[in-house]
Amino acid sequence: MTDRPVWADRPWRALRTVTASQTADVCVVGLGGSGLAAVDEALNLGKSVIGVDAGPVAGEAAGRNGGFLLAGMAESYHDAIARWGDAARDMYQMTLDELDILMAQPASRRTGSLRIAASPEELKHVATEIEALVADDFPVERYSGPEGEGALFPLDGVCNPMQRCQDLALRLIDDGAALHEHSRALSVESNRVETEQGVINAEQVIVAIDGRLELLFPELEGRVRTARLEMLATEPFVHRFDRPVYTSWGYLYWQQLDWGSLAIGGMRDRFMEESWSVSYGPTKPLQEALDEFVRGMGITAQVTHRWAGHAAYTPDRAPIYEEIRPNVWVVGGYCGHGNVMGSIYGRAAVRSAIAGEREPLL
Ligand SMILES: Cc1cc2nc3c(=O)[nH]c(=O)nc-3n(C[C@H](O)[C@H](O)[C@H](O)COP(=O)(O)OP(=O)(O)OC[C@H]3O[C@@H](n4cnc5c(N)ncnc54)[C@H](O)[C@@H]3O)c2cc1C
Repeated sequence: MTDRPVWADRPWRALRTVTASQTADVCVVGLGGSGLAAVDEALNLGKSVIGVDAGPVAGEAAGRNGGFLLAGMAESYHDAIARWGDAARDMYQMTLDELDILMAQPASRRTGSLRIAASPEELKHVATEIEALVADDFPVERYSGPEGEGALFPLDGVCNPMQRCQDLALRLIDDGAALHEHSRALSVESNRVETEQGVINAEQVIVAIDGRLELLFPELEGRVRTARLEMLATEPFVHRFDRPVYTSWGYLYWQQLDWGSLAIGGMRDRFMEESWSVSYGPTKPLQEALDEFVRGMGITAQVTHRWAGHAAYTPDRAPIYEEIRPNVWVVGGYCGHGNVMGSIYGRAAVRSAIAGEREPLL
């Protein structure tokens, strides 16, 4: 089975590895969407920045995800309010603000998104979520259509996640950031990041890694846990889905891409134990379950891509956002919702590192 995301088939100018010791105001470890947002924030604040990634830019989840740009957190709105109170409302607003920024990028489209209920119980849950959002003046509508019954979130959208990150990385290089691929951080200490071929000395270090975060910081074990999430894509077929759909309590999601291919992922709930894994590549049983679901939708287009990526989950669904060592801030653990949340936390981590204090995020 391949491990090639449908998004990666695009020429990319590879970035040099770290080849010598260097110094900057800020070093960002991890060049997915969150790390790139951190680099952007540091440049905006007038800092010199070096960014390093173990692989290519967006080589992990940021470039191999479903491309959903969703308002809110990993939990449904009313569940988040029950857990976090007003802080969840503030967070929801922050994700709407971030969506405005993301939608202005060429790799994104504001299509709205559909949450479709797969059972009467889920439909009740969707109805409660709609009520809670309406009560707080957030935009949402009841939806009934060919996909099923549920909710329409009009401000959500989709992106080509790989293109989004690559576009941003090139812009950041033009703005003065020194970004290095294939330069794994072997250790991260206060003011010092060691890679195989050079040491980076920086006043502040930001670590923006989602899946596999606990491998770099074993002390986070128990607070973040990595899951392997899988997807596939088909060859193009006649356009049928105008908006991205997520259903089955978020365990199944798909979007039909501009060029007609279906990108679909999920089914982790059927393989929960096996999915808690830092190993790479798609697995046969889960891919077969996705195949069966696609056929069940009456889609006969052949599968062209199968892939997996990692995302980190936290027990209380709030991301990790803390100074793990003096002058080393870590963000991650977006529970499968990092496209929008990751940018918010990546930027917040830079401001926190410079100001020396946390901002009031979850
Ligand atoms: C299949 C799949 C589908 C998903 N679908 C969606 C979706 O539709 N919408 C959504 O919002 N979220 C989705 N997610 C979750 C989302 O992709 C992630 O939460 C988000 O991309 C995290 O971005 P990040 O930049 O924080 O982390 P990552 O993308 O994990 O990037 C971290 C980077 O750090 C690098 N790195 C790791 N260790 C080191 C080291 N030691 N030294 C240097 N670099 C290192 C990695 O190579 C990687 O490039 C999905 C995830 C997967 C796997």
